[in-house]
Amino acid sequence: MMPRQDLLDLSFPELEELLTSWGELAFRARQVWEWTWRHLACGFADMTNLPCALRDRLAETYRLGILTPAARQGDPEEGTEKVLFAFPDGVAVEAVLMREDGRRTVCVSTQVGCPIGCAFCATGAMGYRRDLSAGEIAGQVLHFARELRARGEQVTHVVVMGMGEPLLNYEATVKAIRNLNDRRGFGLGARRITVSTAGVVPGILRLSEEALQLNLAVSLHAPDDALRAELVPLAMRWPLADVLAAADAYARATGRRVTYEYVLLAGVNDGLDQARALARLLRGRLAHVNLIPFNPAPGLPFTRPDEAHVDAFRRELLRHGVDATVRRSRGVRILAGCGQLCSQRRPG
Ligand code: SF4
Repeated sequence: MMPRQDLLDLSFPELEELLTSWGELAFRARQVWEWTWRHLACGFADMTNLPCALRDRLAETYRLGILTPAARQGDPEEGTEKVLFAFPDGVAVEAVLMREDGRRTVCVSTQVGCPIGCAFCATGAMGYRRDLSAGEIAGQVLHFARELRARGEQVTHVVVMGMGEPLLNYEATVKAIRNLNDRRGFGLGARRITVSTAGVVPGILRLSEEALQLNLAVSLHAPDDALRAELVPLAMRWPLADVLAAADAYARATGRRVTYEYVLLAGVNDGLDQARALARLLRGRLAHVNLIPFNPAPGLPFTRPDEAHVDAFRRELLRHGVDATVRRSRGVRILAGCGQLCSQRRPG
């Protein structure tokens, strides 16, 4: 039997087209959309204002891509929760919910593994298996949204920073974002969504033409191309000068400040001379640097610089006119921090 298609893979116009082709009245698409994306229905049977025949037809042809955790791990002290989602073809990804003050942020994956292969990242060490579909990406957010709703809470932010390089799975990532952003349903504001890229220049340029006010985070990790080639191998298809030019184009198109991510690896890229070189690259740009002290993960040959050193690096950037903060690492104890996600190591 052919596997049924995931309704979450459809955009609103595609859903409208489908239902029109079935001879349904125009307003049915809106009803199905609202059940799926606003009321977070768990099945077609929940869609009680639809005629039974339509519910049956939907159920025969489509599934409502509900993701169920194959494993989960939480750090109650921090309010961080990591979930492993397994798919029928035997692959799996991890997603993370972070609670901080009033924020409920979901970090989603866009690929199984990652082709970029950053030297300091557990996901990169897994290699690349496949892209996720739009429904598989958005489904991670909907999973946490259902759980939060049961406690009277909701997802307030999404960061596309989990496993994978989102701009190498461009169509599915942007479709998932548009579906989550659609006001008829989930309605998450674009400014509450951050897309993180290792510097895929064609993707950044394309994103700047989407008329979406997303936050863009670009991972640099090195102030020069030679070191970057070692740390972010595939990204070397796009040299730093081109990455920065593309990020400038994004900032111009959206008016949004670009965040530059920089993982600090002791003795590798954390020298004060490297901070000055980074400042020279970014000074005068609509930019902000997010410093991420390395989160250790099994098998990775790096160490985390101590706090004083991290602070000295940050102050050097500030002294040279570049705004910088240190990201408070969340989820590190459950290997859910930046660069630690790896679906081959199953959480308990
Ligand atoms: S840091 Fe991001 S881009 Fe680099 S390998 Fe890991 S998931 Fe891929």
